[in-house]
Amino acid sequence: MSKTKKSKSTRAGNEQAVKEFMQKVIARNPGEPEFHQAVHEVAETVIPYLDEHPKYKEAKILERMVEPERVIMFRVPWIDDKGNLQINRGFRIQMNSAIGPYKGGLRFHPTVYLGILKFLAFEQVFKNSLTTLPMGGGKGGSDFDPKGKSDIEVMKFCQSFMTELCKHIGADTDVPAGDIGVGGREVGYMFGQYKRIRNEFTGVLTGKGITFGGSLIRPEATGYGCVYFTQEMLNTKKKSLKGLIVGISGSGNVAQYAAEKVIQLGGKVVSMSDSDGFIYDEKGMDEKKLTYIMELKNEKRGRIKEYSDKFKCKFYAGKTPWQHIKVDVALPCATQNELNIADAKALIKSGVIAVAEGANMPCTPQAVYEFIGAKILFAPGKASNAGGVATSGLEMSQNSLRLSWTREEVDQKLHQIMKDIHSTCAKYGSEGNFINYVKGANVGGFVKVAEAMLAQGHV
Ligand code: NAP
Repeated sequence: MSKTKKSKSTRAGNEQAVKEFMQKVIARNPGEPEFHQAVHEVAETVIPYLDEHPKYKEAKILERMVEPERVIMFRVPWIDDKGNLQINRGFRIQMNSAIGPYKGGLRFHPTVYLGILKFLAFEQVFKNSLTTLPMGGGKGGSDFDPKGKSDIEVMKFCQSFMTELCKHIGADTDVPAGDIGVGGREVGYMFGQYKRIRNEFTGVLTGKGITFGGSLIRPEATGYGCVYFTQEMLNTKKKSLKGLIVGISGSGNVAQYAAEKVIQLGGKVVSMSDSDGFIYDEKGMDEKKLTYIMELKNEKRGRIKEYSDKFKCKFYAGKTPWQHIKVDVALPCATQNELNIADAKALIKSGVIAVAEGANMPCTPQAVYEFIGAKILFAPGKASNAGGVATSGLEMSQNSLRLSWTREEVDQKLHQIMKDIHSTCAKYGSEGNFINYVKGANVGGFVKVAEAMLAQGHV
């Protein structure tokens, strides 16, 4: 058979294998489209690799990886400020512990249900493996909406949530952290309740306050890490961030610190957003404007539109930035599936050089195909936003050692980890002189977990 015919038939075989694999996943996990999407993206790149490495196929590693080791779902009752009983639903998905204790954030958002958390937990397994640190994958949260709630209501909710969750987690078992709707305030309340019930002071949560075991740089880590990764990608094209125009979506933890690092490195940040719309500041943000956003979002808990009133720039209600502004680098840092195929086409048309996911799965699969097809530098969240969990891993190490590292030490370790993740992606994702970071991150993340699972037998 000629080389072209052979590669065509291999491709058709792989497509068929992915299709059959996905049919089983969908049948076993009905009504969970985000989970199907996350698994499909991995299956497309890992299944061809399995053909070349039959030991993983024979041990059904991928089939086991899509099955959570444990799913915990529970009732969270709490009393609001008016004295009414409120009932939310709590979850923890303990996805895979082959290479370390379960590790992954907690999300409080009204859209939270089993499918979202299973997608996030599945991604987390690969991401944590890529960090080179010994952490398994998990994720959890609740459909509780912290927006518009008083501080006391948030505390009462967190305490009730932890009253059940504390039975299932521990410093050597499962170590949650923050995610959407869960920042320093919520982690503090949950840590307090854990300590009170279990009567132990351990590193059971990361993202803690600095006075009770938190790590310097942890709040900054996801955003900073995403920008460090972007820099590594740009380096492969002999470019740097200096002077480049950068579009960012979101205005939460990840977006804020991505913006801070871009500004420090000489890039020009022109957009940020929230679920009401986005601001376009053509002149670019400086540290003073960013400080305003941090206070607005983290203390006043206000809306991004207020920035446009204060600094006299445009606000696009109900829109995301991608079809409306010209940028060299796009950092989607808000939420899943916020950047679609039309956005990707517009970005490519206007000359985008690099796209790095600060959020988890913010680009739809069709958008990702567009970027890769156009040979844009495209980083999937598992690689580019892994700096947050990596620094959580560093927080765990400091807690175990009962030590605190300096800002510089943690930042330097974070920077090195992002470089190492980039190298892993290049190792497994190089296709001629193009790096397919999606393939690189999926296969690179898979191999370490798969080797550990092989060694541990059929568990
Ligand atoms: P956050 O501080 O709660 O901020 C979330 C931001 O996204 C807010 O600006 C929010 O706007 C916006 N947003 C949320 N849902 C939205 C929706 N449906 N439509 C439009 N905008 C929406 O959360 P975060 O920690 O920055 O997390 C952002 C993303 O990064 C998530 O995908 C998360 O999983 C991922 N991530 C976070 C970390 C971490 O360390 N925090 C690590 C890795 C990955 P509103 O205020 O209007 O809701």
